[in-house]
Amino acid sequence: MYNKNAWEKYESKDEIFAFAEGYKDFITKGKTEREVVKLGIALAEAKGFRPLDSFKSLKPGDKVYAVNKNKNIAAFIIGEQPVENGLRVLGAHIDSPRIDVKGNPLYEKDGFALLDTHYYGGIKKYQWVTIPLAIYGVVIKKDGTKVEVAIGDKPEDPVVGITDLLIHLSADQMQKTAAKAIEGEDLDLTIGSLPLKGEDKEPVKKGILALLKDQYGIEEEDFLSAELEIVPAGPARDYGLDRSMVAGYGHDDRSCAYTSLMAVLDSKTETFTSCAVLVDKEEVGSIGATGAQSKWFENVIAELIAKQGDYTDLKLRKAFTATKMLSSDVSAGVDPIYSYATEPKNAAWLGKGLTFNKFTGSRGKGGCNDANPEYIAEIRQLLDDANIHFQFAELGKVDLGGGGTIAYILGNYNMNVIDAGIPVLNMHAPMEIVSKVDLFEAYKGYMEFVKLK
Ligand code: MN
Ligand code: MN
Repeated sequence: MYNKNAWEKYESKDEIFAFAEGYKDFITKGKTEREVVKLGIALAEAKGFRPLDSFKSLKPGDKVYAVNKNKNIAAFIIGEQPVENGLRVLGAHIDSPRIDVKGNPLYEKDGFALLDTHYYGGIKKYQWVTIPLAIYGVVIKKDGTKVEVAIGDKPEDPVVGITDLLIHLSADQMQKTAAKAIEGEDLDLTIGSLPLKGEDKEPVKKGILALLKDQYGIEEEDFLSAELEIVPAGPARDYGLDRSMVAGYGHDDRSCAYTSLMAVLDSKTETFTSCAVLVDKEEVGSIGATGAQSKWFENVIAELIAKQGDYTDLKLRKAFTATKMLSSDVSAGVDPIYSYATEPKNAAWLGKGLTFNKFTGSRGKGGCNDANPEYIAEIRQLLDDANIHFQFAELGKVDLGGGGTIAYILGNYNMNVIDAGIPVLNMHAPMEIVSKVDLFEAYKGYMEFVKLK
């Protein structure tokens, strides 16, 4: 099934389209890592998964999930073999490039109230202006009260946005490089223009503060302990007259997160413990307490081993060494308008199924995980036996750029890891594109992977 169009295999597209509906709902609601974790908990509980804390001991077939700081979730089906004999792990990231609100954001200028921002991840800044944007996140008040914010996606909601200079006066701006045409400090969000009556000084800002106090009970200083993320407003939609694709925000990497999570939730008890782990901070280097480099995942595996009997450090280390993993992350799909950026024999094509990257990285593969051919052969056999369409690709032409994933971080535990995901067009843009059949092949492929011996 290598390197063939996956649509050809299916007599009817009904099942593929139906699966895409679930996914569209997931990314429409899951615009931030916190929202994805909430959705993940609901999906897991609906399939009979329970929090790890609620288990005193674990036996084969137990369905378990664990959450870290509202930004990571891992779901497990305990296998017939003890956890110390290794797991089958699907790992994806649930953070996506976006624009974050600064700690002291609110100001008034020229009759507008604005929020100062700092972008997150690699973006082409010019793609983020003059589009409707939504605000998601939390404000934690000094007494610990959490105020949840979600503005811009309900039909009755207002949207916010970032302005750009009119073309009529852009003679200077149009001479700048694309990197400089819109500067990071100019990605400020317009949030209001209504002055508070009777105020001389900063009346619009005061109007917004009055509104925040009235609707959310928050003060200006509460922005200090807020986490507000600016994301594209609006739902994921069918793309193409034939509805073969999905247009939406955050396919990188929620397309792989959804398919990985659903693959584990829909699986049966297998020989080894199945796991989908969804992490944060991949777009900024997988750092911190909720990134793939966090000890959290290791701690959860330790707890699984402890709840199966006598815990030892050696059992934990052996579990990792015996683990096989797919780093489920998106690939750079061939774009017909920019096909010069990909080398066709080693490119990811929309519609050709689950995409493997032996390595990612930049230049001489800097920063990559390089999967062992012994491991790749096992996966080829597994997917061929299951009639799953797959392809092998590199992330674009050598020396044009590059990128990384979480693969090497789990590789550091001595696991066998390979990157395997879904080809995307417009990667990191407010509107990314995936093929519905690739979503479906990834889901099916991931379900086979957890059976790997
Ligand atoms: Mn990614
Ligand atoms: Mn990315």
